[in-house]
Amino acid sequence: MPDLTWLQPADDDATAEALSSRFTARLGRLPDGVWAAPGRVNLIGEHTDYNNGYCLPLALPHRTYAAVSGRDDGILRIGSAQKSHGWEGRVTDIRQGRPAGWPAYVAGVAAIFAERAGAQELGADILVDGHVPLGAGLSSSAALSCAAGLALRDLVPALAELEPADVAAACVRAENEIAGAATGGMDQTIAMRAVDGHLVLLDCQDFSVVPVAWTLPDHEVLVIDTRAHHALADGQYAVRRQTCEVAAAALGVRSLREVTPDQLVEGQVRALLAQIPDGAARVRHVVTENRRVLDLVSALREQDAQTVGELMTSSHSSLRDDYEVSCRELDLAVDAAIDAGAAGARMTGGGFGGSAIALVRREEAELIAEAVVGAFTDQGLEAPHLLEAVPSGPARRLR
Ligand code: ADP
Ligand code: MG
Repeated sequence: MPDLTWLQPADDDATAEALSSRFTARLGRLPDGVWAAPGRVNLIGEHTDYNNGYCLPLALPHRTYAAVSGRDDGILRIGSAQKSHGWEGRVTDIRQGRPAGWPAYVAGVAAIFAERAGAQELGADILVDGHVPLGAGLSSSAALSCAAGLALRDLVPALAELEPADVAAACVRAENEIAGAATGGMDQTIAMRAVDGHLVLLDCQDFSVVPVAWTLPDHEVLVIDTRAHHALADGQYAVRRQTCEVAAAALGVRSLREVTPDQLVEGQVRALLAQIPDGAARVRHVVTENRRVLDLVSALREQDAQTVGELMTSSHSSLRDDYEVSCRELDLAVDAAIDAGAAGARMTGGGFGGSAIALVRREEAELIAEAVVGAFTDQGLEAPHLLEAVPSGPARRLR
């Protein structure tokens, strides 16, 4: 029987206390407060956010914590419990690629806010501790930027009127413009606007959110972090995004959100997409995925676990065959979970590694997890880590 590694969420109080002490030991004073923002899993609706489409994420109880003190001298100092190198510099010096690496996610938000607040003097000392696995497709990056962003909103008087949606928008700009990651807005929106105990139907056309209750008490969402990271991820993400933009322009629509499944079989549409390398397949994924999100919400309302599972599995096939963003480890996790009795399974997040999710009966979760881990070790692959996706609340101040 394989050993299972379950990643449990951290205890908020204990983590905030320990991080405050660490902050004080390093900087010689107490932080002004501690904030936390969640990672997420997306139940369905992948690679739809940057196409103005639908997705259905939930916030995880696994969070990134930030101990923060405001400064009024325009200096930013950042450190992470997960990294040996931090960054210190002037907020007015932050731009694309500077700082490089992880500090960009925090520095980026400070720079976007400083621009808005017109505050040359906006600064802060920030120490973070992440309990969302890094680079696992569970959005540790948005958990990081949103924890820092909410702290700045609360500490800088000129930002006090900003709503959670405004903080999310600033964090998207930070990832796009400073960290250089071409992400859509799903991750930051769910981190800032999750509804405890619910999924959120997010319409990326206008970023409106509708809470969707989890109506399947006998089932849970099992998260399988494959721990695979393929170097392709960032480059291929940008290529997919560009293909979608080119296709939307060719079809004369603002975004692929406006294309319906029926239109995909029209002669003129097919002719236009045939001229774009991979155009037909990529567009088919996005258009059918949007429909699957809405169908899954209906199935959830009808407490129809079987249909929810089937839609998840079709989403995976579409991502694997049409969008081509899966990989050996994700396919293995999905196939092994279904073979072991999951109602459905799919990759979640951008792809090329990271995590898969499976809809499983609660009483079978452990057995299915064992089967999946066994399938990995049988193939000589590193054992995946496991999490239970309990729908949790948005970013908030803890103390
Ligand atoms: P994901 O968001 O799915 O975890 P990304 O590649 O978008 O994957 O983001 C992961 C990156 O975010 C890390 O490589 C690192 O740069 C940054 N990051 C996230 N959490 C932390 C943390 N606690 N400390 C330092 N950097 C972090
Ligand atoms: Mg990310």
